[in-house]
Amino acid sequence: MGDLIRMTAAELAGVLATGEVSSEEATRAHLDRIAEVDGELHAFLATNHDASLDAARAIDARRASGEELGELAGVPIAIKDVLVTTDMPSTSGSKILEGYRSPYDATAVAKARAAGLISIGKTNMDEFAMGSSTENSAYGVTRNPWALDRVPGGSGGGSAVAVSAFEAPLALGSDTGGSIRQPAALTGTVGVKPTYGGVSRYGAIALASSLDQIGPVARTVLDTALLHDVIVGHDRHDSTSLDHEWPSMAAAARDGVNGDSLRGLRVGVVKQLMLEGVQPGVKARFEEALALLSAQGAEIIEIDAPHFEYAVAAYYLILPAEASSNLAKFDSVRFGLRVNPQGGGTVEDVMSASRAEGFGAEVKRRIILGTYALSAGYYDAYYGSAQKVRTLIQRDFAAAFAQVDVIASPTAPTTAWRLGEHAGDPMQDYLNDATTIPANLAGIPGLSLPIGTAVEDGLPVGLQLLAPAYEDARLYRAGAAVERIIEERDGAPFWAQTPSLAGITAGKAAL
Ligand code: GLN
Repeated sequence: MGDLIRMTAAELAGVLATGEVSSEEATRAHLDRIAEVDGELHAFLATNHDASLDAARAIDARRASGEELGELAGVPIAIKDVLVTTDMPSTSGSKILEGYRSPYDATAVAKARAAGLISIGKTNMDEFAMGSSTENSAYGVTRNPWALDRVPGGSGGGSAVAVSAFEAPLALGSDTGGSIRQPAALTGTVGVKPTYGGVSRYGAIALASSLDQIGPVARTVLDTALLHDVIVGHDRHDSTSLDHEWPSMAAAARDGVNGDSLRGLRVGVVKQLMLEGVQPGVKARFEEALALLSAQGAEIIEIDAPHFEYAVAAYYLILPAEASSNLAKFDSVRFGLRVNPQGGGTVEDVMSASRAEGFGAEVKRRIILGTYALSAGYYDAYYGSAQKVRTLIQRDFAAAFAQVDVIASPTAPTTAWRLGEHAGDPMQDYLNDATTIPANLAGIPGLSLPIGTAVEDGLPVGLQLLAPAYEDARLYRAGAAVERIIEERDGAPFWAQTPSLAGITAGKAAL
């Protein structure tokens, strides 16, 4: 049997189904890989060694008894720590939730378990998903396997690295302004933000409720599609969850690989997303990808979206406003950390001491910004205006999608930067999301897939594809087709170029 950790989820599912490999072997191979490399990478905040092997054996036994199992049954999965789970702590990367145990599983996690996926660990993230580099985690940074001195992107750097470094074939992430797509781009993996409401947010520790969306992370488009099919669907626990008959995303991805799906596809390129700050090597790869698309019969159409330039500004009013309200529940009474001030004090003193110690700098910054934007007298000027901009961006998308089937852009304007490079300057992080944020403001789906490396630094570059709401399947069809032409160009799947990390010696893992 080939190297189990280098199989895609679809391949692994295939050998599990035939019985060539057991889920116990597959799970053990990934746990061993985590033990070997994660001391250096720090993609995981917790692993579930014994319980995941037990779960794997239970799947093997069910399969052996002839039970009909889901396609991904027995395949390991890593879970972003923003999702609450009963079997491991759920911290959302914050000290205020250190050691917190949830009494229930998030719906996406419960669905993954019901489909027979084996949850092997919780992944590192920026505190409460605020960030673009995973450097805002209260538990230390995660390193990019492509260059260990580089960030993996954020906030879901842990999930992206787990998949990129072959610690797990699949992962779950959350995307409020790009936290699935941008780390996918920076680590050479595939990440999808579904249509808002497509996947339940129940049990996702809320950042900004009108923007948050849970989605799949993997090394191939088909693998993300397979996981999307598992987690999608209406949930009565989430009032914003859509009651919709979703087509099979995996069928769309398979169709995209085999068919002729780029012929006649109208691909929009938004002028305003080709920002001045785009790194030359990113721009070059993007333009090359457009040329490949057009050689396959796609039609490239320039699109004007005049309000996109205000997206980052609107987002950084709407997000802090919603976040400051969502984070009010961390009051030291109901959840997590409690700090008793010296000499005692009132409930309010305890609350304020706990929040002062439990929240990191970025979280505090956004709470202050959010409460200010919502305060009487400023509400209309800030929050109200931001909501109007949001509507204008939605209209820009509607006008664009009247002319094109999908929109393409670089997922992020740059490749992975050095750890510490943006220290003290959060604006640099904020601006890195200028390309991903519009989709969250409009609630539409987005997919990022790797299209090569940048010539100046050899680091991965992502292509972002966007489609109208409910058209997630269109992204998988087009994404799989693009993935195939990139693979044909390179003679190997993109993920096969990921550094092996052979230099990381066993025994360094702290888990
Ligand atoms: N980087 C963005 C932010 O800091 C996006 C976060 C996210 O999608 N969770 O808000």
